[in-house]
Amino acid sequence: MARIVITGGAGFIGSHLVDAFLARGDRVVAVDNLLTGNRQNLAAHEGRSGFEFVQRDVCQGVFLTGPVDAVLHFASPASPRDYLELPIQTLKVGALGTHAALGLARAKGARFLLASTSEVYGDPEVHPQKESYWGNVNPVGPRGVYDEAKRFAEAMTMAYHRVHGIDTRIVRIFNTYGPRMRLQDGRALPEFLSQALTGAPLTVHGDGAQTRSFCYVGDTVAGILAVLERAGADPVNVGAPGEISILELARKVIAATGSPSSVVHVASMVDDPRRREPDLTRARALGWGPTTKLDDGLARTVAWFREALAARAGRS
Ligand code: UDP
Repeated sequence: MARIVITGGAGFIGSHLVDAFLARGDRVVAVDNLLTGNRQNLAAHEGRSGFEFVQRDVCQGVFLTGPVDAVLHFASPASPRDYLELPIQTLKVGALGTHAALGLARAKGARFLLASTSEVYGDPEVHPQKESYWGNVNPVGPRGVYDEAKRFAEAMTMAYHRVHGIDTRIVRIFNTYGPRMRLQDGRALPEFLSQALTGAPLTVHGDGAQTRSFCYVGDTVAGILAVLERAGADPVNVGAPGEISILELARKVIAATGSPSSVVHVASMVDDPRRREPDLTRARALGWGPTTKLDDGLARTVAWFREALAARAGRS
């Protein structure tokens, strides 16, 4: 039985990781300042032995008594709309927050895992993206706050590995979806689902020809655990193959929800990557690969969004 610290533990992926560690009998400390996280995501574990919640900004440092076996740094705004609205917090949690989380790992002799992102590749000039690709990021564009913070976080993680001998992992997470995404966090899938389920038009940015590949959160969590347990210090992509255009995604959401909604084209995002799909060679060598088909994951996510929207309507 291990004791695991997860920053951003009340967030979308963070809370699913909390579930996974508790389910296998580990103890978990979830740290979150609730800026974009939601304590409701952890409601099932409140008061349970082996689970602690610490409301704190990781940038202030995290000081815990007792042993810690692993620190997973997931705290950060992660939706483009969030990091455009919270640029300084995004830069701080990627830089100062990563430094503090590494400091905790060093103090405890714990393994450290950084939640990095496909955004380190920027608007990629190679396709699909291998970990050896250095990326094409605009440092002074509005997305740069997230991309550069995560690039700095990777560099800091490698420096702690090289200088202090910390056992580190870097996972570059590609687009992930599933239950517990915020209903309208600005990302394509939650926006489209909320719009389709309320009869509003689906807002496709630009012509919708830009692509992403979407990984179900259960697969992403299994991939993160594989990296934590079996990878080395080099970055590993975790995501799904199966590139799909955003316009196609909007049509899929309309079909999956049986919605009468239509599609409207709105302004493009600045520096929006045109194509994105992970090369999964490294991740597959760890014995992991995504198994959930988009249609199946989408059906589960639709069911969750229906309930969450009904609960929200009941509260208002
Ligand atoms: N997008 C869209 N409509 C929306 C939200 C997003 O067309 O309401 C587009 C966005 O411009 C991008 C893609 O969907 O091309 C994926 O965006 P998302 O914010 O989900 O994630 P990203 O991969 O850009 O971080």
